[in-house]
Amino acid sequence: MLKELESGVDYPQLYREFVEWFPDNKACLDYLEKLRWPNGFTCPVCNVSAQPWRQTRSRLVCSSCHHQASITSGTIFDKTHVPLTTWLEVAWHMTTAKNGVSAKTVQRAVGTSYRTAWKMLHQYRIAMVRSERKKLSGTVEIDETLVRWYRAWQKTRTRNK
Ligand SMILES: [Zn+2]
Repeated sequence: MLKELESGVDYPQLYREFVEWFPDNKACLDYLEKLRWPNGFTCPVCNVSAQPWRQTRSRLVCSSCHHQASITSGTIFDKTHVPLTTWLEVAWHMTTAKNGVSAKTVQRAVGTSYRTAWKMLHQYRIAMVRSERKKLSGTVEIDETLVRWYRAWQKTRTRNK
């Protein structure tokens, strides 16, 4: 069982913290890697837990079977042209909106096109729904970790509003 997520340790609470935590793509990847493999990298193919090689910042290579694992593979952040900093910024805005945030608001807040803003919100919503379904079928995947993290973050933020 995973430990409870802790505010200020597992997710930022203040906007100042948020900006400090996620200044660039590298910081976002480091964070997502920790979220995905809290106890260190485990190969999704051979299940060996060992220090992987790093091909690029986002691509890890299993030292046992040489499987290439991407930190974002299988998540809503995979194969997207939107920077991770923007994705997390959208999550930040979503966490305070109890009844959801509009694509228009996101567009203005993070400076993307309306279409991109809409798509990001849509992807987050799909991840939420998928996570609910997974809970029923018993499988745990990265998006679920992400959603769990997001919900814990949202809970603290709406409480302190
Ligand atoms: Zn492996």
